[in-house]
Amino acid sequence: MFSDKRSKRVVLVAHCILNHNARIDTCAYFPGAMPEIVEAIMEAGVGIVQMPCPELQCLGLDRRGRIVDGEDIGIREALLGKERACTEKLARLVVRDVTEYQKQGFEVVGVIGNDGSPACGVDYTHYLGTGYEPGTGGFMVVLQEEFKKAGIDLPFVATLDHEWDERLPRIKELVAKKK
Ligand code: SF4
Repeated sequence: MFSDKRSKRVVLVAHCILNHNARIDTCAYFPGAMPEIVEAIMEAGVGIVQMPCPELQCLGLDRRGRIVDGEDIGIREALLGKERACTEKLARLVVRDVTEYQKQGFEVVGVIGNDGSPACGVDYTHYLGTGYEPGTGGFMVVLQEEFKKAGIDLPFVATLDHEWDERLPRIKELVAKKK
């Protein structure tokens, strides 16, 4: 089955790697996709699975006001708190994709998040009150929990907006075909 031109290799990427239009106001670093990251994945012959943007889906596109005005809910805190059901629903959609690909013998090479994000940071995130610190974003926390429940074990790496070039080797390593 599926013995056509496809590589049967896919990678899961944070939504905004393909679409910075989903970013919170003032935080888009590219007009659209992050070109070098997309090129690196394409060159490796790996399909790009765009995960949903949890902030867009659970908090809306104009979510900046939720941080600076009135009630300061914090994005990471909201995704793990009052919007947790929404976060879990999105994470389960990703689990479903992974399960389907793996069931059919495809290789899911891993997850590429976005460090610094309160949602999609892997090793570095943003907390209400203390700001940027080492840690994992709310969506990635829930995704890792849902993966664990489903018996899925995948490596997580991350890009970083202003240091995307320094992160590129790790991304190339992730998508490279293992011998
Ligand atoms: S880092 Fe995650 S939450 Fe933030 S814009 Fe990108 S996909 Fe959306």
